[in-house]
Parts: sequence; structure tokens; C-alpha cells
Amino acid sequence: MERLSNPSLSLQKKNKGVMVPQALVDLTKEPPAWLHYKETLSLFVALEQAGGHCRFVGGCVRDALVGILSDDLDVSTNLIPEDASKRLEKAGFKVVPTGIDHGTITAIKNHRVFEVTTLRIDAETFGRHASVAFTDDWKIDAARRDFTFNALSLDQEGGLHDYFGGQEDLAKGRVRFIGDAGARIREDYLRILRYFRFFARFGNGDPDKNELAQIQKNATSLSRLSRERVTKELWLLLGLDNPVQSLKLMKEYGVFRSLFGVDLFPEYVEALTAVEREKDPVARLLALIGGESNYFRLVQSTLRLSNKTQQRIQSACETELAADLDPHAQKKALYRLGPVVFKDCAMIGALRNSNAPSFKEYLRLAETWSVPEFPVKGRDLVAWGMKPGPEIGKALALLTQIWIDNDFALTADELHKRL
Ligand code: ATP
Ligand code: MG
Repeated sequence: MERLSNPSLSLQKKNKGVMVPQALVDLTKEPPAWLHYKETLSLFVALEQAGGHCRFVGGCVRDALVGILSDDLDVSTNLIPEDASKRLEKAGFKVVPTGIDHGTITAIKNHRVFEVTTLRIDAETFGRHASVAFTDDWKIDAARRDFTFNALSLDQEGGLHDYFGGQEDLAKGRVRFIGDAGARIREDYLRILRYFRFFARFGNGDPDKNELAQIQKNATSLSRLSRERVTKELWLLLGLDNPVQSLKLMKEYGVFRSLFGVDLFPEYVEALTAVEREKDPVARLLALIGGESNYFRLVQSTLRLSNKTQQRIQSACETELAADLDPHAQKKALYRLGPVVFKDCAMIGALRNSNAPSFKEYLRLAETWSVPEFPVKGRDLVAWGMKPGPEIGKALALLTQIWIDNDFALTADELHKRL
């Protein structure tokens, strides 16, 4: 994904704190690059020769309107998946039946990837599983989508099709459900989490009170969602430029209480986003749980986190850094914990105890001091005349301690002399 420099978008910045509508890109004058890729042409020609119609749909069209070039290209067509597959294979695409149950195939040519989905109506929904029927009606397909600006489609001539006022909502920064918010949420509770993710990306001003009320009313059913879906969605939110307002709303409207049984700390994520150098979802999750082991256990049992992430967060929750370490003690802690956990602990210390400037000093140290490597290996000790065996380990531990106590400065020769 890439943000294009587009002078017509300069309006979208907040003007002295006052929210102004965002000027959308005129796609007839400035079509997104993907509309004219040669692979796009080849895909459209292949499907049209079989009597099909096709358009780009969903996220890539929405993103193009705000000047973001998406590489996640969704195309819809009225051809059924079997016919579309045959045609595309003939036209030199590699075709994978990625989501054939709901009518989606992936077509790849020259590293360009298109998700091609047959127009459909979600005939019945059971909280999340939708049983599908195909259609050739573009508006029906648009109506099954979640938000008005996610239902936009773009034809090959650059014509934009907007059945539910998605452009206006996007321009005004409104995330609006298509149809009745409560009913749409009850079809798939994940839409609550998607609401807050899209609000973090495109929202402007206060969200609609009625939609928030529907979210609040239905939030307790979030516990029905699979761990995988919740994790994926929350992770996407935590990786965005500014998830803070959404996280605050999620707390206020009972989303965290319903998912994890507790309210969590969006205000810590706010403090973190003000100083962080990179948008790190793990650090943000750690801030969100306030570095509390108890809260981590609740989050851990609801989400599906990688072992690496779990270990990192757990280490940070279980390690307390004192607020008054002198520079040498700071280096010792950094060496012992490693830079990642040391920084995480310093971050949590700084968030919890904003009056203690030392934690900021710790963070500076972690940014500027690259931990030196201990210069002696076991084989050096053997070369110095020691017999291989358990004594080597003890000597290495002793030398490491001497090296640390001497400010990590002694060379191998100097350590040899100490031995
Ligand atoms: P992103 O940029 O995050 O990928 P996206 O809009 O492309 O955003 P996807 O999850 O890739 O989101 O889904 C593609 C499209 O499918 C959406 O734009 C929306 O129209 C539809 N969609 C996806 N998930 C849902 C859902 N849970 N309920 C209704 N429609 C959905
Ligand atoms: Mg997408």
C-alpha cells in the first residue's frame, strides 16, 4: 500500500483541530494505476469474452478515493467461479480456488494478484457463516457488504458505482452500516470490530450515536467470534497510524469488557503513540493491558498470539525496572534483559509513572547504546589451557561478571589476565 502525493488531498488534514470533509480523488481524471495494469486488461478481456461483466470492488476502490494505492485487488463478476477459472487459465492466469465456497478464486499473472468473486447474495447468515447464492445484480452484491464506502465499485472505464452514498460518507469521515446497524451487526459480530478499524482509518468527528448504541447493545455477543478472527482484526487496528480514538470508544461501549472481561487502558496507548518511533502492535497491546500480568492472561486466552509475541509481552509484564537505576545499572539491565524487553519495560514504567523522567532516559539508552558482545568464547578458555568440562561454564560466568562490572570494556586479553 502506498500513499500517493495528491494536491487535491491537502484538504483532508485537520484544520486547527476543526474537522473538515476530505476532498476525494476524481477517479475519472486520476484513475488508480491498477485500473490500467496490462494484467488488468487481460483479466477483463478474458472475462468479457465469456459474456461476463467485471468491476473492481471494496477496499481498493475506497482507498483510491483517498489517494491510497492498494495492492489488495478485489474484482467482482457475474460469471460463476468455474467459468471464470476456465477463461482465466486460458488467458495465462494461474488460478487458485482460495474461497470457492463463497465464490472466490485468486487469479495471478506476472506477480499481479486479483481476488475474483462472483456476485452473490448472502441468503442466510448465522452470526458469521453466510450461505451464498449467486446473482448478476450489482446492487444486491453491494448490499451484503458492511459499510457504505466498502460497497463502491469501479468499472474499467473509470465509472464509479455508489449505491448507498459511500462517497459522501467517506468524504465526511462517517462509517455507516448499509441498512439497519443492529441487524447488520447480528449477521456478523465481527462488523463491530471492523467498524472501529475503519473508524480509525477514515473516521472524522464523532461517530453516529445510534450506531454506537447498536454496537453497545450487541457487544456481549462478540464472545461468539473465533479467536482467529478477533485476533486478526485487533491486530490490524493496533497497526494503524492512530487507533487511539477507536480504542477509547471500544472501551466506552463495552467491547473490551465483552471480549476480555476487563476494560483495558487505551489512555496508555495514547501516551505511547505520542512518543513511539514505529507503529508496533505488540508494544501497543502491551500498553493497552497496562503491562499487567493478570490482564495479559485474559487477553492471551481470548486471542491467538504467536509464541514470540506471548513471550515478549509476558517478559515485560513480569519484569519490574526500578525508577532510580544509575547509568551503569541501566546498562546491566539492558544487557541482561536484551533491548526488546528492556525497552518494553521502560515504556511501561514511563506510561505508569509519567513523573519519573528516568524511564525516558532508559529509552534513550536503548536507542543509542548497542549492547557489546562478550569477547570470550569457551574455545578461547581451552586455548588458554583449561580442560574442557563444567569448569569452562563457571569460568565464562565469572568472566562475564567481571566484564560487566568493568563497564563492558575489557578485551579478551585483559580478561585472560584476570583469569
Ligand atoms: P482492507 O483495506 O483492510 O483490506 P477491505 O475493505 O478490503 O479493507 P477486506 O476484509 O479485504 O476489507 O474485505 C473486502 C470487502 O469485502 C470489504 O470492502 C467489504 O465490502 C466486504 N467485507 C469483508 N468483510 C466483511 C464482513 N464481515 N461483512 C460484510 N462485508 C464484508
Ligand atoms: Mg482488502
